[in-house]
Amino acid sequence: MELENRYDIAVIGGGLAGLAFAIQGAHAGYKVVLFERETYPFHKVCGEYISHENWNFLQELGLPLSDWHLPNISKLLISAPNGKHIEQDLPLGGFGISRYRIDDALSQIAIKAGVHLFDDTKVLNVMYRNNSCLVFTNKGETEALVAAGTFGKRSNLDVKWKRNFTRIKPNKLNHYVGVKYHVRIPYPPDQIALHNFEGGYCGISRIEDNKCCLCYLTTAYHLRRNKNDIHELEKNILMQNPFLKTIFSEAEFLYKEPVTISRISFNKKSQIEQHVLLIGDAAGMITPLCGNGMSMALHGSKLAFEQANDFLRGRINRFEMEQQYTQQWEKHFGKRLITGRIIQRFFGSATLTNGLLAAVKPFPRFINWLISLTHGQPY
Ligand SMILES: Cc1cc2nc3c(=O)[nH]c(=O)nc-3n(C[C@H](O)[C@H](O)[C@H](O)COP(=O)(O)OP(=O)(O)OC[C@H]3O[C@@H](n4cnc5c(N)ncnc54)[C@H](O)[C@@H]3O)c2cc1C
Repeated sequence: MELENRYDIAVIGGGLAGLAFAIQGAHAGYKVVLFERETYPFHKVCGEYISHENWNFLQELGLPLSDWHLPNISKLLISAPNGKHIEQDLPLGGFGISRYRIDDALSQIAIKAGVHLFDDTKVLNVMYRNNSCLVFTNKGETEALVAAGTFGKRSNLDVKWKRNFTRIKPNKLNHYVGVKYHVRIPYPPDQIALHNFEGGYCGISRIEDNKCCLCYLTTAYHLRRNKNDIHELEKNILMQNPFLKTIFSEAEFLYKEPVTISRISFNKKSQIEQHVLLIGDAAGMITPLCGNGMSMALHGSKLAFEQANDFLRGRINRFEMEQQYTQQWEKHFGKRLITGRIIQRFFGSATLTNGLLAAVKPFPRFINWLISLTHGQPY
């Protein structure tokens, strides 16, 4: 397929936010182009637990979720580094599916819906000129009336645009490393566990085909202290937690090496840059222990598309589109992010997490209240 000179919508980044935005655009009859720098299907660092709040929206986009018999996750186990743990029901719950599968399936739906999808194509810059967004890629350039920046946690564009969070010195919210494996180990299909260790936490839950996603977040500092060697870190630190010791010693690891990502930042971000609507992690990243980043990406794309659609139909001007999207974003996600950052501060120190878990164990309703603050309702 040839890249055309002009589109109604250009989408930069084909994760959940970008694919959902592009599909909505195509379903509404717009000419849409999407650029993804990787080639589908591909693995991505993510815990792969999706809150049920997204079920209806994903089905509306065309995913046959009910036919896939995915693990339904309704229970949470949290363990402290010393192995003490609490178990309780999740208020809304979720389901497990790999990003390899869901992103690929959405990319196929996007293509069928008419999206001009270019994978293996990196966007180098976007510039706003004469009421249009000029998009420069390594394979050519185009322009669009609306551009959606759905390029995730950290991208070349963040640095190019000198976004504030890229210029903040390393601190407690911006120097994280994520590591993910797919493993096989007998594990209850209805449970997600969050196992804490000194300097981070590791989630495990079931995905498709009787596999489990095993994914952890730690700081660059803790990795450095273990000679920048992931396996040393796992042996010396993660396996101090008895649950993780069992998992890491007994599981069958399905890839040779894990998928990793570094320089993750939970600092505040803007929702508009260069007149591009930023959605998903590009607009603000919730700490993974809340298990709600994918919901924010998907729901955010719905909120952004409502405004983009009004703009493209001539019902509002560009200023109103940007202002109303920012307000909607803040209304739905502002509090979730603040709560996520506060909770994040309590995890990481072994002593603090051991104490915190012992303190909240008798108060399951308090834990449910915290979970509800970091989650939304079906939309
Ligand atoms: C350790 C960890 C565990 C997590 N666990 C969970 C969980 O269990 N549940 C949950 O809901 N959330 C979880 N999250 C959060 C979740 O992964 C993200 O919030 C979600 O992936 C955001 O989707 P997105 O579409 O914004 O970004 P992404 O899915 O990251 O997609 C962005 C895409 O943009 C592409 N891209 C970047 N730059 C360019 C460019 N210049 N040109 C073209 N393409 C580009 C990238 O290749 C990528 O495919 C976790 C995050 C981490 C770090």
